[in-house]
Amino acid sequence: MRDSIVQIGLLLPEVLGTYGDSGNAQVLCQRLRWRGLDAEVVPVALGEPVPSTLDLYLLGGGEDGAQALAAAHLRKYRRALTPETVIFGVCAGLQVLGTRFRGLDGVDHDGLGLLDLTTVPGERRAVSELIATSSGLLDDAPLTGFENHLGVSKLGTGSEPLGQVVRGTGNGDGTEGAVTDHVVGTYLHGPALARNPALADLLLTWTAGHPLPPLELPEVDRLRVERLTATRRRRTS
Ligand code: GLN
Repeated sequence: MRDSIVQIGLLLPEVLGTYGDSGNAQVLCQRLRWRGLDAEVVPVALGEPVPSTLDLYLLGGGEDGAQALAAAHLRKYRRALTPETVIFGVCAGLQVLGTRFRGLDGVDHDGLGLLDLTTVPGERRAVSELIATSSGLLDDAPLTGFENHLGVSKLGTGSEPLGQVVRGTGNGDGTEGAVTDHVVGTYLHGPALARNPALADLLLTWTAGHPLPPLELPEVDRLRVERLTATRRRRTS
């Protein structure tokens, strides 16, 4: 947060906006404003250069064609993004942040190489609620969202999983998402940062360089508990 106004980069929302992940930008903006900090969402459209000056960057999910288009554009501006930059990618965004992904047509595409993971199409589409335990990064707060993807992602040694799957598919091998330095990817839609406030605040803490004061939002906590309980109940019934 170099300037007085925190700039949240929303990368290619018209291409990577199919699953409502642009809402993550609104959540981050609002959580900063509730703490008395100025924040704005800076959308970066396809065809526009990606500035290196924004405080954090978000990528959402999208169909295979949209994802390939987004990757081709973002590769041109790869140098604007480093592992020290705070970056959060969801589904297609996660796959684009990886080193390589394969489309249904069998064509391999280079990703941005900010996460050490590769993605190939799986045997069947994962469409369900997704619950994962979080890694130590989030004090074991469960992660919740919904998933809708065919891709199966395999992590290399340069990334750690964001969590372990409790319900659903995630990466496809029992792990969910990936983290390298300040770059985080996940299969959780929702938007993920509305459903997982601790994850939102982790990204904001990294951006600020220090912990932010906690927010008391009992309504959000209540909805989160309700949703987790309902999903877990569906799993066992
Ligand atoms: N096209 C990718 C897949 O199906 C990503 C889908 C998404 O972003 N939800 O794996």
